[in-house]
Amino acid sequence: MHKVMIISGAGLSAESGISTFRDSDGLWENYDVMTVCSTQGWQQDRQLVTNFYNARREDLEDKKPNAMHKALAALETKYKGKIHHLTQNVDDLLERARAKEVVHLHGTLTDLRCEACHQTFEVGYRAQREDEQCPHCGSYSVRHNVVMFGESAPMYQHIYKAIDDSDLFIAIGTSGQVIDIVALVQDFKHSILINPKQERHQTAFGDFEKNIDDYFEHFLQTTATGAVDEMLELIEEHLCR
Ligand SMILES: [Zn+2]
Repeated sequence: MHKVMIISGAGLSAESGISTFRDSDGLWENYDVMTVCSTQGWQQDRQLVTNFYNARREDLEDKKPNAMHKALAALETKYKGKIHHLTQNVDDLLERARAKEVVHLHGTLTDLRCEACHQTFEVGYRAQREDEQCPHCGSYSVRHNVVMFGESAPMYQHIYKAIDDSDLFIAIGTSGQVIDIVALVQDFKHSILINPKQERHQTAFGDFEKNIDDYFEHFLQTTATGAVDEMLELIEEHLCR
């Protein structure tokens, strides 16, 4: 088999200057996280949430992909058909590094979605207009394309497909608070965790006794860009075995 499943998170884009809700206690660029990331907040104040995603989109424009984005994009070409890359990030830095096959588990910042026909359309880095209209069906009922707490994430089905098809799991810059990487890693013979900090295994049910890295075969305790060389060596070793 010898295929690889990669799940990346906020830590991948942190060195490119993309802030996340994990950076500060409950606040994300001065917005309350539960307001801008939950269906409840969305129902209460659509304009506020729209403003928030407009600002994130604008903020993304001048950010640049880092060495890990580039390394991951290059892997797609080098090991064609052998890499499943699923990201929790909604930015487009992997695509700007020329990745073409990344699955965005939590949606994309540079698209909007129509609530009538459910199709998405690209808007790049501009704000959503007050009279924004769906180009597919003409509806004015249009929203950001980011999955919120309280919504289903249809792209998660790709995780289960990738698990069945891979024997090396790599988690980059994610603490597993949204997707439980400890539950996932137990299905793999080989695994690599890349995180600058050692973290406790924590789920919705509370704190567990072990650290996340205890469950992984290799733990590269460094930032995403700091782990590039060692990660590539381990992948090479695995795929060329
Ligand atoms: Zn539509």
